[in-house]
Amino acid sequence: MYFPSWLSQLYKGLSRPIRRTTQPIWCSLYRRLVQSSQRRNPEFNSFAVRTNTCGELRSSHLGQEVTLCGWIQYRRQNTFLVLRDFHGLVQVVIPQDESAASVKKILCEAPVESVVRVSGTVISRPAGQENPKMPTGEIEIKVKTAELLNACKKLPFEIKDFMKKTEALRLQYRYLDLRSFQMQYNLRLRSQMVMKMREYLCNLHGFVDIETPTLFKRTPGGAKEFLVPSREPGKFYSLPQSPQQFKQLLMVGGLDRYFQVARCYRDEGSRPDRQPEFTQIDIEMSFVDQTGIQSLIEGLLQYSWPNDKDPVVVPFPTVTFTEALATYGTDKPDTRFGMKIIDISDVFRNTEIGFLQDALSKPHGTVKAICIPEGAKYLKRKDIESIRKFAADHFNQEILPVFLNANRNWNSPVANFIMESQRLELIRLMDTQEEDVVLLTAGEHNKACSLLGKLRLECADLLETRGMVLRDPTLFSFLWVVDFPLFLPKEENPRELESAHHPFTAPHPSDIHLLYTEPKKARSQHYDLVLNGNEIGGGSIRIHNAELQRYILATLLKEDVKMLSHLLQALDYGAPPHGGIALGLDRLICLVTGSPSIRDVIAFPKSFRGHDLMSNAPDSIPPEELKPYHIRVSWPTDSKAERAH
Ligand code: ASP
Repeated sequence: MYFPSWLSQLYKGLSRPIRRTTQPIWCSLYRRLVQSSQRRNPEFNSFAVRTNTCGELRSSHLGQEVTLCGWIQYRRQNTFLVLRDFHGLVQVVIPQDESAASVKKILCEAPVESVVRVSGTVISRPAGQENPKMPTGEIEIKVKTAELLNACKKLPFEIKDFMKKTEALRLQYRYLDLRSFQMQYNLRLRSQMVMKMREYLCNLHGFVDIETPTLFKRTPGGAKEFLVPSREPGKFYSLPQSPQQFKQLLMVGGLDRYFQVARCYRDEGSRPDRQPEFTQIDIEMSFVDQTGIQSLIEGLLQYSWPNDKDPVVVPFPTVTFTEALATYGTDKPDTRFGMKIIDISDVFRNTEIGFLQDALSKPHGTVKAICIPEGAKYLKRKDIESIRKFAADHFNQEILPVFLNANRNWNSPVANFIMESQRLELIRLMDTQEEDVVLLTAGEHNKACSLLGKLRLECADLLETRGMVLRDPTLFSFLWVVDFPLFLPKEENPRELESAHHPFTAPHPSDIHLLYTEPKKARSQHYDLVLNGNEIGGGSIRIHNAELQRYILATLLKEDVKMLSHLLQALDYGAPPHGGIALGLDRLICLVTGSPSIRDVIAFPKSFRGHDLMSNAPDSIPPEELKPYHIRVSWPTDSKAERAH
């Protein structure tokens, strides 16, 4: 059977990789970025053995004697070479006269990507030879002296951005990959945004930048942590999944407003848009409520947003968790486009269609639908078949496609049972046009919504691959999701509870009584920030009452409170009311730069399987080096061969 790759992604149950819809022109974007930092006058040439950067020279420099350092980008017929540094490209004229034979030899023999230093005069290019596409295209350098600083061996790949290379190769030679304009753009934009965030938090709002330990102990609940052996037999540190406990303790310590560009570690296995170590902009403050934190983050993003993007509009819209699930089938909706889930149960109260009847006869049965704009034009018969198969295999649900144009119900014999009045009512409720297709399902509310939520995203991707412009690639659509439940049923044992955010999250003030009667129904003061369908931040107002915290940990979550005795004790010594949030910096920058993967915005990321392909970490340790830690490796039988390597 036809099996489109977008559906196979779904089958594998992978979380959605972050996508971009247009290919930015890295070189010009990058140029603008460096120039924008230049407006604030950083001194690029201080302390260095050069007078200028390659990218800064213009006609205004004509006649100046300059010294430049850079990499040989390419050479043309032994007469010109183009020199590159972080700032841009400049053309260098290779001298041809006998007296400069040694300079010519160096510049003609040095392989591409060798590092050279040249000194000479800025001259204008001969008339007609200017290159308007190059910012330095009006001038060139008449070289007097040249020095080969380091020769470059044959490269494993060309540095040029347009050359396609596998990601494994890019990661293996990351230091070469970093020379590309794309990587330079991403890392410099990241640095500029972080700088503006620091400015906003520390200088404008009095936050204190505080480092917290990375050697810590296990935290109950939440993600799996990395362990670090210690020299005490049987004792381990854990790498923190976030500085959560420390930042709360800083509030108890009266620091009032904390932030940190914090490295966090989660041993969660491989996911396309996750990394085992990642960075958060971690924030906590005292005497604040949910709206205070939301305004702080809106201001922070507005202030740090790159100048070359459309400005961030605040306040961001807010939906409740319940609304998000009902309308988009997910708690991180992509609000750049419609195709919302609509409840159409009432249209089908008297239907003869078996599976709809069946669903509606059950206590919480519903009929729900999404409308695929111009679906009749863009979707093929086999797409509909794949959608139906996916719904059956993964949700045990039926999908009924309804073509609004009655003559086109080719794939749906059941649709003939839809009465004309029902069709008209559908058109009215769903605001559909002639060529649209409605995908309809029936069943229990949450299940129907999450199926349609998945299909909504997949159909959007599909329509876009077929040429429809559904999501504006320049649009950044922020959304707050609030009023989460405080607890969710545990995945491995649904009769037990786990925190929807983390165990330090305060209950919604109007639901505190439910903690003692129906804890499952209690909402929390947890808020998530979503951007274009990706969760980029989350936080909460915290519990600052030791007794309530102990009750939630011990009675509701069945955690060992001894592990958190330090925190419980601290809450008893005059802990102020406090709350905070953490923004996922890697994901945020990935979306801002339109990168396909978070690995593209991290200088030295781990591979999909959590390996450093450049250095080969993690690596084995000889048994004698493990001795001080009182550790012995128990080798799984099938990895003996691997060990032999
Ligand atoms: N520590 C939380 C997290 O990493 C964020 C927070 O609640 O502030 O998700």
